[in-house]
Amino acid sequence: MNTPKIKDIAQKNVIKISEHESIGCAVDLMYKENHRNIIVISDNAHHRFGLLTASDLIRLRVAKIDFSLPIKSIKYDKIFSISEEAKLEDILEEVSHEIECLCVTDAQDNLTGVVFYADIISSIDPRMLLEKRAIGEIILNQHLKQAQQSESTLEVIGLMDHLLNDCVMIYDVDKPVGIITTKDVIRLFGEGCDLTQPIANYMSRPIQTVSFDTSIKQALDFIQLKKFKRLIVVDRDGIIVGQITQGELITRVYSRWSEMVRSHDTQLREMNKALKIRATRFEALAVTDHLTGIYNRAKFELELQREIDRVKRYGSETFSVLFFDVDHFKKINDNHGHAIGDLVLQKICQTVSQHMRLTDILARWGGEEFVAILPSTSLESAQTVAEKLRSTINGLQFEGMDRISCSFGVGQFNKLSDSFHSVILRVDQAMYRAKDNGRNRVELAE
Ligand code: GH3
Ligand code: MG
Ligand code: MG
Repeated sequence: MNTPKIKDIAQKNVIKISEHESIGCAVDLMYKENHRNIIVISDNAHHRFGLLTASDLIRLRVAKIDFSLPIKSIKYDKIFSISEEAKLEDILEEVSHEIECLCVTDAQDNLTGVVFYADIISSIDPRMLLEKRAIGEIILNQHLKQAQQSESTLEVIGLMDHLLNDCVMIYDVDKPVGIITTKDVIRLFGEGCDLTQPIANYMSRPIQTVSFDTSIKQALDFIQLKKFKRLIVVDRDGIIVGQITQGELITRVYSRWSEMVRSHDTQLREMNKALKIRATRFEALAVTDHLTGIYNRAKFELELQREIDRVKRYGSETFSVLFFDVDHFKKINDNHGHAIGDLVLQKICQTVSQHMRLTDILARWGGEEFVAILPSTSLESAQTVAEKLRSTINGLQFEGMDRISCSFGVGQFNKLSDSFHSVILRVDQAMYRAKDNGRNRVELAE
């Protein structure tokens, strides 16, 4: 059986520091490299490696420990090392969610990387295991620590006193307005922020959430992409229903996987095959619609969220969204067959792509419905774009077929009143109005 070796999955961009350096130096390095953990190298021949984490730093700060002290003078976790030539299955029993990571060493016993529990799990193609289960099924930690936005930063980060409490939701009376995580804490320490200031000055906002019906795979991808450690899960109405950490997600996956390793030799081999393919194609596949080659809905949703963040957080120019749906597409399928229907969809996407800017995001919403984000675009310009696309599509000629048309809805994201869901809803409604008003036309969102 040809399972991957440790060195195939280890993270090689580890940061390390000697235990003789100061805590402050570790913070600087973690901040500069955007890491939550740092490997501490000690002189002790039996226990050469240790791990200093964001939670340790919080604990130290709350205990008023002087950051100019050497790391050697504080308590931090020792970690084991493993040879980079070791096989994945050799360490399955050794790592658990309690032991977060192992150091990886070469034949000369030099540190070459670190392997996290998460890496082991996510190095197996998650599609097979995770696609079908929604995170709503496994939200474990319903209880989130809460604080008011006027409370002092030191007080709030002091609440993160345990592994399970490593984030705090920040409220404006009873409305959640932000979140503070260990990652933010590294930033606060790294920038030497004044911790007596209210937490409102430093929290991350808005709270980024995922819907309870997101699959575990999408959830893991989302976490990885955003470098988050947890997911805040909301229901269809956007009400927060709980949270789940990366560790918890992975634990669920891990228990299933290890079971499989034990009892399903062939399945494991299949997984390894998929792993190889994934190495090169997974990134693209995860965001692409197979039929049309344009982005899929998951990618659209990520990009929409990103665009909203840009506008709300950084005050970028607002963007517009357009939806379009092929008119009477069912008839095309009925009259010419599904295969021809597919070709029509491909041709439409090709044409639309050619008429859009490089920065625009075109995606397939589903079926014969498409959606686009036009960054830094006014409603007026977006309407012009839609009109141009409408007439271009209507001008396409397909042999033996009547003209194709599409109905468009166009809307601009309103910084003050719109949310992720409301902008989609408004533009979708505009598109349905275009259908009601006779199809092959563009309607603006209210
Ligand atoms: P309307 O103008 O109201 O949008 O009418 P319509 O016929 O386009 O709408 P309807 O939603 O009734 O039908 C959509 C059809 O699109 C039905 C479905 O079979 C077809 N369809 C969805 N996805 C695909 C696909 O990937 N390929 C093909 N060929 N057809 C698809
Ligand atoms: Mg249609
Ligand atoms: Mg439709």
